[in-house]
Amino acid sequence: MRYFIGNWKMFGVPKSINIVKKINSFYSKDKNRKKYRVIITPPFTLIETFSKYFKNKSVCIGSQNCYQKEQFSSNTAAISPYMIRSVGAKYTLVGHSDNRSEGDTNEMLKNKVQFALKNNLKVVFCIGENKTEKNNKKTFSVLKNQIKVLERKFNKNNIIVAYEPIWSIGTGKIPSKNELLKITIFIKKVLKSIFNKKSPAVLYGGSVDGNNVKMFKDIREIDGFLIGGASKSSKKFIDIIKNYYR
Ligand code: PEP
Repeated sequence: MRYFIGNWKMFGVPKSINIVKKINSFYSKDKNRKKYRVIITPPFTLIETFSKYFKNKSVCIGSQNCYQKEQFSSNTAAISPYMIRSVGAKYTLVGHSDNRSEGDTNEMLKNKVQFALKNNLKVVFCIGENKTEKNNKKTFSVLKNQIKVLERKFNKNNIIVAYEPIWSIGTGKIPSKNELLKITIFIKKVLKSIFNKKSPAVLYGGSVDGNNVKMFKDIREIDGFLIGGASKSSKKFIDIIKNYYR
């Protein structure tokens, strides 16, 4: 199974549902639709209406983050996995670099993953090195340390790992094919050592578009994509899927 996940970040108002409707109508009719899943993560404000609308449709809805406590607490503006699940989301991103840079630690991420899974949210766990770490040849050790959060041996079917080099997010810069192949194989090796020899799906994220997806499709180890900027346009998002299967 391949995944195309659209992360809207701080984008979208109620009428933006039209973007997802267009994606859904392409996806529902696509001859390749059984080979992949489409998940859109709008901001919290839109999760309930989108989840209701797409309940029996092809597109799935997820959240972009969740708080590290399970249900209710006295944390102003926090939104728990229980609350997210109760409005119909099926997935949540955890550990996006935007949130890591705002203070998410491994300890917090462990709780987020644990409570999300406990509340029947599948977790898209984001990892990735920054530019300095890459230049200092620290990529492998950084990724290994980030993956430690998953060491509690969760069910691999409920976890998806998204490799997103921070220097690539929103910059138009992407890793070389060889670099990405090596890193994806490394990530899967580390995951196999945790998940009883079977790796969860590993996605790539960072400036994916309809052109460069042709390069990524040659790397069979990549199980799909986490797409930021291009997911805010139905055409750009659909082009990525079309060109991947072309
Ligand atoms: C992201 O933020 O998860 C992302 C991959 O963004 P972009 O596709 O815009 O680089």
